[in-house]
Amino acid sequence: MSCDYRTLAVAGVQGLQPYQPGKPIDELARELGLDPGRIVKLASNENPLGPSPLALEAIQRALPDLCLYPDGNGFVLKQKLSARYSVKADQLLLGNGSNDVLELIVRAFADPSAEVMYSQYAFAVYPLATQAVGARHCCVPARNWGHDLDAMLAAISPATRLIFIANPNNPTGTGLSRTELTQFLDQVPEQVLVVLDEAYGEYIDDPSFPDGLSLLAQYPNLIVTRTFSKAWGLAALRVGYAVARADIIDVLNRVRQPFNVSSLALAAATAVLDDEDYILKARRLNTQGLAQFVEGFASMGLDYIPSMGNFIAVNVGRPALPVYQQLLGQGVIVRPVVNYGMPEHLRISVGYPEQNARCLEALRQVLA
Ligand SMILES: *Cc1c(COP(=O)(O)O)cnc(C)c1O
Repeated sequence: MSCDYRTLAVAGVQGLQPYQPGKPIDELARELGLDPGRIVKLASNENPLGPSPLALEAIQRALPDLCLYPDGNGFVLKQKLSARYSVKADQLLLGNGSNDVLELIVRAFADPSAEVMYSQYAFAVYPLATQAVGARHCCVPARNWGHDLDAMLAAISPATRLIFIANPNNPTGTGLSRTELTQFLDQVPEQVLVVLDEAYGEYIDDPSFPDGLSLLAQYPNLIVTRTFSKAWGLAALRVGYAVARADIIDVLNRVRQPFNVSSLALAAATAVLDDEDYILKARRLNTQGLAQFVEGFASMGLDYIPSMGNFIAVNVGRPALPVYQQLLGQGVIVRPVVNYGMPEHLRISVGYPEQNARCLEALRQVLA
């Protein structure tokens, strides 16, 4: 009899359920004996455009220095972000994806005596990060698939330390208006930190949509997180960042690994910020693709959640897991969201028009 080492894990970790990522193309290709080129993956909110050419050139230039550690302070990228968004460099924290940043925030500010609040149907990393440090969960029921900010305010207790808000939210695509957000922030006690996760912010060009960075001066307890994985098209490289008051960033830097962002990622992220065209193209493709899906769902009589992200959640009117499986059989990978408590929805990322069309056609056949 040997020891079951799982029982030795710290309490929070024992209760963890690992994150379920979208199925990789190569995995499905192996399982079905299909050509990977025939598979359409619309499962991880990736940018169908492929990386900006500026990213590829920057990586080429950085390759000869692979034997060197990256700049642990990310000086050049921070300078670029700082100029672009009018924030000071000491207000910026870089992460290995914004996922890293979200975890650093929880690790730095929440312990088992603290409560971490997030909404029902909110991004899965919030409960995961909370669970990993053994902090208490406060999951507030959603309203119309989105954050119920009144209910969240009412749920704040003396133990509440962190509140996560994704705007737009993944996997539902719902968004909060500037007024909703500021009225909420006005009432959150200043010792409660609010993390505003703007992973999809770059997809939105509506000037009335709230820009978290513009709220930082007014709300000292606000932390805005962003990523290069979605609209900037660099998901594989893992770069994201937080913007907040310098004293908050200082705390986060204490728990950050000294070299948490690779030199290739730093170089590429710095370079793509010059590719304004890329973002415009990504936005245009996304707007068209969302319209294509909305039209397709309507023609099938399917209910969907109007989305502000680069994905859309559709109600297939029956248990979605078998539908997901049958779509796989047709070489189309989407994302089931049963783990979010949405057993009849599928989350579909927006791809190129032909990819969207193949996905809709496969869905039509499966549901027929
Ligand atoms: C995709 C996503 C992220 C994290 O992406 P990274 O690749 O880790 O930067 C963060 N928040 C939300 C809401 C997301 O959907």
